[in-house]
Amino acid sequence: MEEVEGMMVDCPVCNGLKTAHSRIKTENIPYFGEVMETSVVCDVCGYKHSDVIVLDHDDPVRYEMEISKDKLSNRVVRSQSATVSIPKLGIKVEPGPKSQGYISNIEGVLKRFQNGVRQALILFPKDEAQKNAEDILEKIDKLLNGNLKADLIIEDPLGQSSIVDSDVKKRKLTKKELANLKNSSTIIDMDK
Ligand SMILES: [Zn+2]
Repeated sequence: MEEVEGMMVDCPVCNGLKTAHSRIKTENIPYFGEVMETSVVCDVCGYKHSDVIVLDHDDPVRYEMEISKDKLSNRVVRSQSATVSIPKLGIKVEPGPKSQGYISNIEGVLKRFQNGVRQALILFPKDEAQKNAEDILEKIDKLLNGNLKADLIIEDPLGQSSIVDSDVKKRKLTKKELANLKNSSTIIDMDK
């Protein structure tokens, strides 16, 4: 079900000649379709970028599902244009120049949040937010252990993202929700 193609390319950041591994992985996600995951990693400067591209999905979409222990391995496709949030924990990842697209599962999404919060703890060690961050980490642990339930929401104005789950609530984004989402700088041209 998976196909990988790779080659060495010039690094867009340090300009190293053929120093970066470029990989294109194609995966067929059930009930969603063919997804292309692209990544570039430079051996010299450590530059790393990844994104996912889905063909034939372009309606602004919103997915909502309840995270529980038996759903941790459910597939998740998060494109660069998507906002991922767990409102109960007060955490959200919005699209931006540094945001990465990925194919993962619920557990992987939670681990990404975990890493993000841990990095924030290191960056702002004396901030008042410290306690809040520790509280969030504790709740993520509980979600991973099945001791807590919370909703995961993915909103994607370009319809490139997906959560694969039989109970997932999927619908089109409203115009108001669309207007409230941060969009990645390059690709948006929506009719209002
Ligand atoms: Zn480089």
